[in-house]
Formats: sequence, structure tokens, C-alpha cells
Amino acid sequence: MKRIKQLLFVLSVLAVLLFSVSAHAEKTEYTAGILNDYEFSGNNVIEYAKDSVRLAFKYTENTEVNFTELGLKNSLTALNNDSISFVCMVPWNDTLSLYVDYTTEPVATGFLALFTGADSNIYFGDFAKLNNAKIGLIKYSVFEKQLNEYAVENNFNYAPVYFNTVNEMTESLDSGSVDAILVPTTIKPNGMRLIAKCGSFNYYCAVKKGNAEMLNLLNTSISALKTNSPFYLSSIYSEHFKIPYLNTAALTDDEYTALQIQEKLRILISDDNYPMAYYDTEKYAYAGVYIDIIEKVAKNSGLEIEYIPGDLYHSPIDCITAGQADAILTVSGSTQGLVTATEPYTSISYLPIAKTDTSVFEDGKYYVGILSNDEWITDYLSETHPNWQIEKYSSINSLLRAVEHGKIKIALLSTPDMQTKTSLIAHPKLSIINDFSVSIPVSLGVSNLTCPKQVVNLLNKIIQSMSVSESEFESRVYTLSHIYVPNFRDMIYANKWWLIVILIIFATTLIFIKTREAYFKKLSRTDQTTHIYNRQYFNQTADKILEKNPMQSYLLASVDARNFKLINDRFGREIGDQTLANIASKIEEIFKDIGLYARYQGDSFLILTEDTPRSRSRLEKLEEINIYIHDSSKYQVPIKIGVCPIPKYNPDITLADYIDRANIAKSTSPVRNSNCLVYFTSEMEQQLNTRNNIEVEMVKALKRGDFIVYYQPKYELATDRIIGAEALVRWNHKDRGIISPGIFVPLFEKNGFIVDLDFFVYETVLKMIRNRIRGKDPIVPISMNVSRCHLGDEHFVERLEQLVEKYQIPKQYIEMEITESIFSQDDNSALSLIDELKRRGFTISMDDFGSGYSSLNLLRKVPIDTLKIDKVFIDNADDSERSQVIVEEIISMASKIHVKTICEGVETETQRDFLKNAGCDMVQGFFYSKPLPYSDFETLLNSSN
Ligand code: C2E
Ligand code: CA
Ligand code: CA
Repeated sequence: MKRIKQLLFVLSVLAVLLFSVSAHAEKTEYTAGILNDYEFSGNNVIEYAKDSVRLAFKYTENTEVNFTELGLKNSLTALNNDSISFVCMVPWNDTLSLYVDYTTEPVATGFLALFTGADSNIYFGDFAKLNNAKIGLIKYSVFEKQLNEYAVENNFNYAPVYFNTVNEMTESLDSGSVDAILVPTTIKPNGMRLIAKCGSFNYYCAVKKGNAEMLNLLNTSISALKTNSPFYLSSIYSEHFKIPYLNTAALTDDEYTALQIQEKLRILISDDNYPMAYYDTEKYAYAGVYIDIIEKVAKNSGLEIEYIPGDLYHSPIDCITAGQADAILTVSGSTQGLVTATEPYTSISYLPIAKTDTSVFEDGKYYVGILSNDEWITDYLSETHPNWQIEKYSSINSLLRAVEHGKIKIALLSTPDMQTKTSLIAHPKLSIINDFSVSIPVSLGVSNLTCPKQVVNLLNKIIQSMSVSESEFESRVYTLSHIYVPNFRDMIYANKWWLIVILIIFATTLIFIKTREAYFKKLSRTDQTTHIYNRQYFNQTADKILEKNPMQSYLLASVDARNFKLINDRFGREIGDQTLANIASKIEEIFKDIGLYARYQGDSFLILTEDTPRSRSRLEKLEEINIYIHDSSKYQVPIKIGVCPIPKYNPDITLADYIDRANIAKSTSPVRNSNCLVYFTSEMEQQLNTRNNIEVEMVKALKRGDFIVYYQPKYELATDRIIGAEALVRWNHKDRGIISPGIFVPLFEKNGFIVDLDFFVYETVLKMIRNRIRGKDPIVPISMNVSRCHLGDEHFVERLEQLVEKYQIPKQYIEMEITESIFSQDDNSALSLIDELKRRGFTISMDDFGSGYSSLNLLRKVPIDTLKIDKVFIDNADDSERSQVIVEEIISMASKIHVKTICEGVETETQRDFLKNAGCDMVQGFFYSKPLPYSDFETLLNSSN
């Protein structure tokens, strides 16, 4: 099956191929007769006609034409008996038209001329000598009628001598038996001289009378050729004869004389004017449309031409006056006395360009602009358009712009310039006026100073015989040169307003984006409260600085406000922010030129500066400043400054390490109500190492059971009985003995280890209670500390609950101590933690009450059971009286809202007595007992009841 399909496919392909080949092969052949009556050496008109016909047939598909050379008479016979399809070189003739039908368009062109031998004494236009001359003609020549008319026109008689062939005729001219011969020709034959032109004529194709089909075919073919190549006659002609048709010169006596005198014509080319006249740098010769024509004029005149490039400083007329040139290439009129214009050798149309929608009349009084290059046309314009005031412009663009800007009404541009040098696309406001155009005749301007009159006559004669029509001329420009393609600049110019608008929009958007970018960049680096750099920027930049200057030593200072939370709480956030801004602006004032500084977090600032005596003295200056909470306040904020020297770059120590050190130095500053500056020392380094060691060891220590729980009993003041205890953790270090939580708890709160440690304590306590429950031993409620680290841990309460359930501990046996300072956090997390604990039935004690900046207000909101008054109240000997009043107030107020009170850190009997009098419920302190290891506590508890 597959095979058959393939075979079918191959067969169909073959069929298609065969069909197309056979379709091609089906060509209709035509035989054309071509007249050879006047064919002689140098008059190869036959090939010329053949080419036209062949070209025409190219436009009709599937046709082919063969030629057979015949005389006129034989051609007619052949046409009649259909042995040829048509004749292709038939001049128009009344008699012939009785036997044949002519095509509408010609296929070749020629002129009818009288020639003499080279030695003859008859010259061109010398009709007196032609009178009674013997003129040779081909027998029955269709051209005889034209010669008759010419003779009548020019007042001479002639005696016709008839010949059978053109060869017989030329021979008799050579032998002198005739004075001249009449030949239809295309070119001056060698060895003969032209003495008269009796007119031009065209060759047509002709078919047998009534053969409409053939005639139709020929007409469509030739008209197709014409559409595709409007100047086919001259172009095919030029191809064959290398010169424009109708251009063979015929000289009079005088002109010969003039020629002998003149010999050379120096023609001034005023400017580089592509494509009209320019210097071809590749061919090292002048070229262009004007030059082409002039070259041919020269060739036919026998004059030698030399081109003189235009003088930059002198006008063409000046050059003529100076005798530097014999002629100007282009003039549009004579300058009397100096330059005589020849007959125009061509003409060129100038297109008027004006603003669209303005009405312009040819005879209006206007300013009319032309190119400086076209100055030569002013002669003509001043005569034909006297109303116009001519202005000159150096470039097409400036000319067109002058119209756009209304400086001139009309711009005149030659069609070649329009075609090859510009495009109105770039000037959308302008258009070509259709109502009129200006046709400028182009002449050679012959110098009267250096040339005799006959030169002009000679040139005129030649020009007349070969002048090029405007349309043909322009078509030459068209084929010669490129067509101007509007370029990018034109487009830009045309759309300049749009472009400007777009550019403006683009620029504003860019500026907008850039400013936004800059703004956001600044925003991302700036702290919004203090308007100095923020932490991220400081970190990035400081790192770079340290890394890039490894040998430089630096100082890193950490600055913060003492008791800043107090300010926030007491005066409100706004004042707090103002205070921070004040600190920032002082730092900025002092370190602007020598340091990098930023707000690091909360109330802490960092400064990085090179370690020089100058920066050290600046730091001292910082220590001396006074900072007020706001400009009009007397309330001063003391600052602490810790400085860590950085001797040189050490890749093992990070910026964070240095910041830590500065902070450690800062934290060691003594508690006092004034500014304080501390440098990080080697002892601190030691501490830091310890701290680092602790961090390394803590996890192992917990696993190993190095952490132990101590119990400090609480006493009821009324009875002096133990009514509870607080669980306090200790580290029983293998080398260092018992380490107090004051050292490691703050560290563990930073690194988060406190979470595990707390749960270790809780579990130890709960286990202990469970044991006592099991052993039916006396039990008191145990308070356990809740670190701030549990804040925000949503699983904390649940985890605690699970532990309590695991050991089946009734909640009245435990109490959670939550330090008051966690309320300094802005959010509600502290409150919701306490709420959650309360909801689950835990008892809450607010630890360290009064140590921070808490307000009594807090008590209203927070559902606590016990208030644990901080040690500082009873410690403070200086203002004990005031403290006592405060403690009394706290106690009485707490009792009013049914909150129990306990005072911690009771060391003396006096303190105990005071508290008892003040109505405090419980005490805890060294006066009664230190925190005890469980064994001691157990003994105490068991014996107490
Ligand atoms: P705190 O919760 O305020 O504990 C009371 C501190 O006061 C204890 O210090 C205790 O030994 C000490 N103290 C008791 N009576 C007196 C006295 O009469 N005079 C003086 N000068 N001090 C007295 P300790 O045990 O060194 O604990 C220090 C802090 O460490 C505790 O302060 C608490 O904040 C924290 N801490 C201790 N154990 C734990 C724990 O298991 N978990 C958590 N999160 N923190 C704990
Ligand atoms: Ca406590
Ligand atoms: Ca406490």
C-alpha cells in the first residue's frame, strides 16, 4: 500500500514537471521583415530596430521573433503572401499606408539628411550652393516627398538622380557624378559631411492591411515596452550609437573658421552639483547630466573642452571678466556685453514649494527662495517673474525652513534636486504647488571677450540638432542618480515636536524615577526618627571601610541614653523621639567630618572613626555635651559611651564583635547621673572570653546537670512562717564553682538559651513538688521566673501546661514571676501572656516592681495576684524616707485592689519591721534566708511545720 502511494506521488510530480515544460515549449514564432534598403557601413539602423522589436516582444509571453532582411518591395510581397508576419522598419508614407497598417508607436527613429563627400565645397545651410545640385536618391524612395518640401522651404531646386541601391549611390558621390545624396540615417556616416537636415522621422512596424490580430499584438507589446521604459527610443538609440539621436553637426564656412580659431572651449563649472555637473572622484573626470550633453555638443562641434572649476571667491561673471573661462556651463539668459547665452541645450523644471493650504499665484509679489547653487536661474526669473524678490539659501534645509518660518513665500527647487537630495517628509507643513511650475532654459553662456560670434552660432546649430527635451532630460536625471530616500534625520525633523514632547516626558519620568530612586535610596539608608544613617547602612559601610583600610586603626563607639525608657514612659514617645534626634544631631555636629555614625537600634548609636588623637578628643567632647529632651527643656539626659579600639583589620573579628565590645565597655560605666565614656579594656576582653566560653559550654552543662535549682523561702510577715519559695537557678561550673545567674542569665536571654534553661528549672521544680506530694511532705507554692524571651512564643503557655499536667501538679502549688520590665515593650504581648496564664489558672507575681519605670497604672490593667516590690526601694538609704512613703503607698493601694504584696531583698530587721508596719504581706531576703540548695530547703521546710 505504502509503495503504491509513493509511486503515485512520483508520477504526479513527473506529470506536473512535464506539463510545465510543455507549457513553456508552446511558443508562437513570428517572422519579421526588416528593410535593408538604406543599410550601409556606419548606418547600422537595422540592429537598432531589431532591438526595439525584440524588447517589445519580451513583454508578450510565449512569443519569439525572427528577422529576415528584405528590401521594401520584397517585404510587401512577403507580407501579402503571409510568409512574414510583419515588417519592422517602415517609415510613415501615405502611399505605403494603402497596403499596410502601421503600429501606433514607432520602434526606431532617424533623420533624413543630405551628405556630401569630405572634399565638397558645400557646407551646412549653404542653400545657394545647393541650388541646381544633383542629388542622389533611391528609386521610389518614400523620402523623396520630404526632400521636395525641404527644397521648397529653403528656396533651392535640385536635380534628382535615382539609384537602385545605397551602395551605387555612395559610389557615385565619391566619383563626383552627384553633388549630394539623400539618406535616411541615424548617424553621420564616415567620410561624408552633413550639409542639410531635411527632418526627422520614425520607423514603425507594419502588418498586412487588415491583419488586426497581428497589429493588436504589436501595439500591446510596444505599449508595454513604453510603459516600462518611456524613453526606449532614445535609450536604445544611445546604446547603439553612443550619442543622442539627431545630433550630427553640419558646419557652415564661418563656423569652420571659427572652430579653427577657437579650438578649445574653457567651460566654467561653478559648483559641485550632483547629478547635474560634478567631479567624479572615481573616474577623475567631470560628469553629470549637463556634462553629458555638453560633451556631445563638443564632439559634434569639433571643439575641445576644458572644464574650469568654479572659483570660490569670484562669481562666474567675474571669471569671465578676468578671461579665466570661455563659457559658463549653465546660464538662463545673456548678460549683455559679456556673455551670450546659446540656444538652451535643455530645460529644467523648478518646482515651487510653499506652506500647505496657502494660496500662491505665479504672478504674486513674493519673496522667493532659491539655492545659492541655482543663482544662474535668476537671469531668467527676473525676466519672467518680475514680481518675485529672489533670496538665496546655502542649503536645501535652510531654504525649506525659511518657507516654514514664513521668511519667504515660495522655495524653488529643481526636479533633480527634489528627486535626489531631499524629501518633503521632513517638512510636513510644506507641499509642492500644483498650479504652476517654472521651466528654466539651460544654456551655455559664451564669453564675448574670448569667443567670436561664430562659436555661439556653431554651438546653437549643434544644440538645435540635438537638444534634449525636458521630460527626457529629467528621466535621465532619474535614471542617472539615486532617488532620495528620506533618512533618519528627516524623520526626526518631521516629527520634531512629537519628539520634543516625548523627550520631555521621558526626561521628566527619568528625573522623577531618579529622584524617587534617590529618595528611596536615602530612605533605605536613613533612620526616620533621627535622620542620620540607619543600622543597615552602618553595617554595610563600616564593613567596607574596615576591609579597604586594613592597616588603619579605628575606634568604634557605642552611645546610648541612660534610662531612655524612663523618658519614653514619662514624657511620651514624641519627646522620646525628640531626645533621640537631639542625640543624633549632637553626634552629627561633632563627627560630621571625621566619622561614620548611625542610629543602631532603640536608643543606641554607633560611631566609626579613625583612631587619631583628634577623634579621641572628639569623643571626649561628646562626653561633655548636654542633651536635653527637647530644646526648651531643662531635663537632661545622661549618655553612656563605650569605645572599642580596632587596631587593624582582622578578618576573624566581625563588626558585630566590635559592637559587642563597645557595648560591654558601655555597660560597665558606673551608674551615675552624668555622661560617661569607657574604653574597652583587656579585663573586659577577659570577661568577654568568659562569656564566650559560657556560650560554648552551656548546652553541655545543661545535659550534664551542671545547672541546679536553689530555693529561697518566702515568709509571711504576720506569722513569720514559710509560705512559699522562689526557684533560682545556679550553674555549678566544673572549674569555677557556683556561677550566679546575674552573669549568665542576661547572656542566655541574648542567645535564647534561657528558654531551655527555664524549662529545665520548671521541670526540676515540678518534679520536686510531685515527689513531695507523693511523700506527703509539707508543700509551699514555688515561684518560677519567666524570662522575657518567652514573650511572643505562642507555645510557651501550652508547653508549661503540658509539663504541669505531666507531673499532675495542682496550680496552687506554683506561681509565675514575670518581671515588670517586659511591659516596656510596646505591644500587648506581655498582657496577653499574663491573660493566657491567668485563664489557665496560674498565679502571677509581678517581679521587680518599681525597678523599671512602670506606673501604678499598670496594676489596673494587669490581672496579677502578687506584687513583688523591688529591692531598690528598701535599699536606698539616701532617700529612704521618700522610698518608704512610696512603698507604703504601693502596699496600701495593692491591698485595696486585693493584690498581695511581697518585698524582696530584705536584709535587716529594720527593713522587715518597716514592711510589717506598712502592711506588707510577705518578705524574701537574706534576713530570713539565702537561696538554698534543695537539700537545705527541704530540711528547712520539713522542720518549719
Ligand atoms: P530576681 O528574680 O529578682 O531574683 C531575686 C534575686 O535577689 C536573686 O538573685 C536572689 O539571690 C537575690 N536576693 C534575694 N534576697 C536578697 C537579699 O537580701 N539581698 C540581695 N542583695 N540579694 C538578694 P539571683 O539568684 O542571683 O538571681 C538573679 C536574677 O537572675 C533573678 O532576679 C532573676 O531575674 C534571674 N534568675 C534567677 N533564676 C532564674 C531562672 O530560673 N529563670 C530566669 N528566667 N531567671 C532567673
Ligand atoms: Ca524573681
Ligand atoms: Ca526580683
